Amino acid sequence: MDITLAHLYPQHMNLYGDRGNVLALQYRAQKRHMGFHIINVEIGEPVDWRQVDIVFMGGGEDSHQAKIYEDFLRRKDSLSEALSQGLPMLAVCGAYQLLGHEYRTADGQILLGLGYLDVVTKAGATRSIGDVVCEAVLPLTPNTLVGFENHGGQTFLGEKAKPLAHVQLGHGNNGEDGTEGALQNHVIGTYLHGSLLPKNPHLTDLFLSWALEWREGKPVELPPLDSSWEMAAHEVIVKRRNLKH
Ligand code: GLN
Repeated sequence: MDITLAHLYPQHMNLYGDRGNVLALQYRAQKRHMGFHIINVEIGEPVDWRQVDIVFMGGGEDSHQAKIYEDFLRRKDSLSEALSQGLPMLAVCGAYQLLGHEYRTADGQILLGLGYLDVVTKAGATRSIGDVVCEAVLPLTPNTLVGFENHGGQTFLGEKAKPLAHVQLGHGNNGEDGTEGALQNHVIGTYLHGSLLPKNPHLTDLFLSWALEWREGKPVELPPLDSSWEMAAHEVIVKRRNLKH
C-alpha cells in the first residue's frame, strides 16, 4: 500500500522545522513497508486531490502568508470539496490561520482564508511563545500532545470547529478559552510546532490511518510500532512541569 502526501508551499510555509512532520509520516509509513510519495506544491503548481492521501502545510511568518494566500484561495473549491469528503490535512500555525475564514494581521491587513475551518484569527497584543502540553479531544493513547508554539495571531473557534485539545501548559488558540487547535472531519489545524508529529507518534499514526481510510474507503488497522523513544518527549515535559498524564 502506498501513501501520497501533498506538501503545500514548502518554500514559504516551513517554520521551526515543520517539514519534520512530513518526515515523521514517511518514517512510520516506511517502517510498515508502505511506499510514501511526496508532491511539493508551490505557487501556481496544479494538484489533483484524487491522487493525494494526506495534505500538509506548515507555518509561515505574516509576510510569507501574504505571498501564498491568493494562490491558496484559488484552490478553495477543489480542496474544500476533498476535505469534506474525508481527505486528511494537517495545517500548522500560519497554515491553520489560512484554513480558517480570515487572519487580521497587526498592521491591519486582512488575509482571507480558505474558510474550511470555522475559525477566525486576529493579531494579539503579545506573542504566544513556549512549550505546550495539552489533552487531546481525539481518542489517543496517551491523550497528551506536546509541542512548541510561537504565534502572534489569536484564533477563535466557531460552532463547526471542535477544539483539537485543552491546554495544560501554554497559550493555545488565544490564551483565553483554554483550547488548542481545531478539528473538523479529518482536518487538524494547530499551533503546535516542535515539530509536532515526530514528538507525537500516536497522532502521526492517526493521520496514516485516516489516509488509508480515505484511499481504501474503509477503516484500515495499522500494525503497531515501537514508540518508546518518541514518547520520551512526553515523559520529560510532563515530569518536569509536574503535569498529570
Ligand atoms: N504569522 C503568524 C503569527 O505570528 C503565524 C506564525 C507561525 O506560523 N508560526 O501568528
